[in-house]
Amino acid sequence: MTEPTVRNVIIIGSGPAGLTAGIYAARANLKPLCFEGFNAGGLIPGGQLMFTTEVENYPGFVEGVTGPELMGRFRGQAEKQGCELITQDVDKIDFSEQPFKVWSEGQLYLAKTIILSTGARANYIGLESEEKLKNRGVSACAVCDGPLYRGKAAVVVGGGDTAMEEASYLAGICSSVLLVHRRDDFRASKAMQDRVRANPKIKLALSSAIVEVFDPAENKVTGVAVKDLKTGEVTRHATDALFVAIGHTPMTDLVKEQLELQPNGYVKVQPGTTTTSIPGVFAAGDVADWVYRQAVTAAGTGCMAALEAERWLVANDSAH
Ligand code: NAP
Repeated sequence: MTEPTVRNVIIIGSGPAGLTAGIYAARANLKPLCFEGFNAGGLIPGGQLMFTTEVENYPGFVEGVTGPELMGRFRGQAEKQGCELITQDVDKIDFSEQPFKVWSEGQLYLAKTIILSTGARANYIGLESEEKLKNRGVSACAVCDGPLYRGKAAVVVGGGDTAMEEASYLAGICSSVLLVHRRDDFRASKAMQDRVRANPKIKLALSSAIVEVFDPAENKVTGVAVKDLKTGEVTRHATDALFVAIGHTPMTDLVKEQLELQPNGYVKVQPGTTTTSIPGVFAAGDVADWVYRQAVTAAGTGCMAALEAERWLVANDSAH
């Protein structure tokens, strides 16, 4: 059997990071191949923005744009520049020697460099009603969706820095914010907790859990059922939106045995670069970023990864 052609670069994931890497790598004549995923529990073609409605903070779109439309434009631009897209998941990767090996649907692909842009999934509580109301008032990103609830009531769930940040941000936009957390103590930094506690628009429901989101029958969020975990009492709280801020899970299953990760599970990159612990492997977007997590920052690191892959090829690959 003949060995497959060795590619200059394979990109894994097709959110803002992966597709921006595709645009830049194609324009540098690297003939990139991007596995965009198949949306079957693996990679999400288009990434997290495919679950968002209105995107009002992506620069260049004065009137806003929907997440799927924005990603359609990214994709069209990557293809037009010459990035080859395959609508498949990657099943396995081997970084142990050059060229790197990538398997998808039983076929082997080889590449000198890899750009990993598999993203991170927002964690959700796991309620059926929550699932039904995603994008209809249930959101995992206050910066993305908060302005849609200007002047309305919001609930935030979580006790980490993200929950504090989201509650503070929403308090500046919404009429009221209820912050629900399952323990009495917050995990968040003291400074961020203090800001929340000092904000008169934010009310706290501690040692409490959200046990139901209303109302799937109305196809929008009208309230939540909050259970006091100490007394067992359940009360109904009216709200127009529920922001779930209970952490994200980076999509590192393919690489976690091979690449160095941060203690929190995200891919470790050299600060200010997309360079990972393996030369020739670059990580861009949310798979390596638990702080900013914005489409525009992911696109920025996708650009960096393509430029770094190109420089790596110039320095290390005489055939290039
Ligand atoms: P996190 O620190 O992991 O906090 C997640 C929170 O969600 C915890 O309070 C946890 O409760 C709660 N939680 C987890 N699963 C839950 C469930 N099933 N039901 C209800 N509550 C649940 O996540 P994060 O807040 O997204 O922060 C991630 C990282 O980013 C952290 O390192 C954070 O410091 C950093 N970050 C920094 C900034 C900043 O500096 N500006 C902003 C945002 C994030 P328990 O506490 O009970 O476990």
